[in-house]
Amino acid sequence: MNDSSSESYDLLIRGGTVVDPAAGLDAVRDVGVRDGVIARIDTRIDPASASRIIDAEDRLVVPGLIDGHAHVMDGVTPVGLRPDLIGVEAGVTTIVDAGSAGASTFAAFPRYIMPNAKTEILPFLHVGRTGLATIPEVESESDIDREASLAVIERHRQHIYGVKVRIVWPSFEALGMDLPRISRDIAREAGLPLMVHIGDTAGRLQSSAGRDALELLDRGDIVTHLFTHHAGGALDEDGTVWPQLRDAVDRGVMLDTAHGKGNFSFEVARRILDQGIRPDCISTDLAAAGLQEVVFSLTDVMTRFLRLGFSVSEVIAMTTIKPATAAGVEHRLGTLGIGRQADISILDLRHGDFELEDATGALLRAEQAFVPVLTVKRGEIFTPGWGPRPWGWEPRRIA
Ligand SMILES: [Zn+2]
Repeated sequence: MNDSSSESYDLLIRGGTVVDPAAGLDAVRDVGVRDGVIARIDTRIDPASASRIIDAEDRLVVPGLIDGHAHVMDGVTPVGLRPDLIGVEAGVTTIVDAGSAGASTFAAFPRYIMPNAKTEILPFLHVGRTGLATIPEVESESDIDREASLAVIERHRQHIYGVKVRIVWPSFEALGMDLPRISRDIAREAGLPLMVHIGDTAGRLQSSAGRDALELLDRGDIVTHLFTHHAGGALDEDGTVWPQLRDAVDRGVMLDTAHGKGNFSFEVARRILDQGIRPDCISTDLAAAGLQEVVFSLTDVMTRFLRLGFSVSEVIAMTTIKPATAAGVEHRLGTLGIGRQADISILDLRHGDFELEDATGALLRAEQAFVPVLTVKRGEIFTPGWGPRPWGWEPRRIA
């Protein structure tokens, strides 16, 4: 008897297809969890060695899904959702909160939000001092307090993973290039990545707004809402990708596709993909305003990317190791390595005749859809709720 066969496990996930792009794994495997940590991944683990067994046959077993852009400052901002609603109860183990909190409101995250959530939260700090407690969040330069932002980042160093700014009306109209410039300086001074929102949902900025801001970004910074159809997005008036975006990608800037209520167009996606630009991360931008309208869950957005031509493995990479890298946590999240925190998502890939809708109301038919089945967070098991639609998790079936 060798060492591994004499081991015991708190949890055994049996017979699923493990898709872990960071580990180069796409095969049927058993996964053993002990003390909240991945203890073993093997072709067969003796069921007698486990106190609890989950049958994952015909299911996908993937590293815990990471939503790289959502809003979970529930009770502090009007857009904030309860983290577990779109987290462990929806197949997602970790959420990047994209700037819900600013310097004046951040303390509520570690004091009230994080202790009440099973889902891990990786906040980015908004440059606007109130974060998204007020929208518009920046109307003049006095709404940004550089020193207070840096002091909050220093005080909450272990809880802040980046800095966020939105290039939108009226902020960009009031501050112009000072808006991304001050934001970039705060991020650089703090040694954190800067996440820049493009796409002005108010429709009042020129399409070139924010184009020059791309030149300020460097390796590790993030552009979010890549597929927005709004002015200030990635395309010029002729539908050509701004050269500044191409250059940013060449420098190592990461591209996120936060869907949201108003920033995702199949048509824009097609044009950008046809020009050879590939996003790094899939995210929802789920917020109270969009939950029951356009975007429903991370698995729902993943389904859209399958339909756009990405492979299952690419979609999983874009919701595991890539967002982990964007948030600087790839050393501990985003892959199922032995000894790592046991964050695991079990998914079903359903077949049917589905209808997908983007933020412009455009429709696409799809034959496959991801559905969450079970979430494991630090070894603890969570069952997804009924789902965001009256009939559950699936997109609408045509037939
Ligand atoms: Zn957002």
